[in-house]
Amino acid sequence: MFTPYYRPRRLRRNENIRRMVRETNLSVNDLIYPLFVVEGSDVRKPISSMPGNYQLSIDLLVKEAREVQKLGIPAIILFGIPAEKDALGSDATKNEGIIQRAVKALKDAVPQLYVITDVCFCEYTDHGHCGAVVEGDVDNDATLEMLGEQVITHAKAGADMVAPSGMMDGMVGAIREALDDNGFEKIPVMSYAAKYSSAFYGPFREAAESAPQFGDRRTYQMDPANAREALYEVELDIEEGADIIMVKPALSYLDIIRRVREITDLPVAAYNVSGEFSMVKAAAQLGWIDEKKVAMEILTSIKRAGADLILTYFAKDAAKWLNE
Ligand SMILES: [Zn+2]
Repeated sequence: MFTPYYRPRRLRRNENIRRMVRETNLSVNDLIYPLFVVEGSDVRKPISSMPGNYQLSIDLLVKEAREVQKLGIPAIILFGIPAEKDALGSDATKNEGIIQRAVKALKDAVPQLYVITDVCFCEYTDHGHCGAVVEGDVDNDATLEMLGEQVITHAKAGADMVAPSGMMDGMVGAIREALDDNGFEKIPVMSYAAKYSSAFYGPFREAAESAPQFGDRRTYQMDPANAREALYEVELDIEEGADIIMVKPALSYLDIIRRVREITDLPVAAYNVSGEFSMVKAAAQLGWIDEKKVAMEILTSIKRAGADLILTYFAKDAAKWLNE
């Protein structure tokens, strides 16, 4: 009978030694919590496909932000849903738009909480695309100009960081230039650098009311089959001045997170998207999986793959679980 000489099991014998040799430790510092803000007051509209998530009016958003801050989560990322949508998503570039008022209210009430704004147009346009549509497709360079206007209003409102998500060519450079030209050189840009055209965004589109009314986003978001192209996108965004690089989604793209980690020393963020969250919730509701264990395993795997920051709807739960 073969008797092994090497015995890796020695370092797994009890929880103490397992803790000592653990290579990846998820921390509350890694978490960014996405929130959705709508017009009105006292509005807390459940997002049915994302249990525990809501569209909140500004008053209740502030309440929620206080709770998030108490849990030790350092940052939120904010998505605005305006009352009125139009072809150019004009609410997105108004100083008195929904997101701008929300950011102001948050920074007044909970100044310690770091507020990141999603920078895009799909929640604001009546066609649901991520910019100005010309002849059935999003016009890249016209959208860059709009993005420049949008970030200035976010910065004026007090946003700590802006996060462009529309996958327009040159969006990071355009935004960096707009910020710098207007005295906001201290505001960092977290770029959704490798954002895939993914079916895992399904529940988010209910949350943000941003489903495209015609066509899809494959002329700007990436083909899930491509990895080298993601590295090219990342290189361009670094060149244009991105401060943090994001990969989205996370779970089916752990290889991309790893490869991005290997080509840059910038912080890497990953978006654990709505579909990844909702699958866990649904299976847990059916009693098929242990929600806490599965969620923590997923978040740990995203960090192990190379992400420093994780945008996740599990942020509040994970913060509680980490404190247990
Ligand atoms: Zn968009």
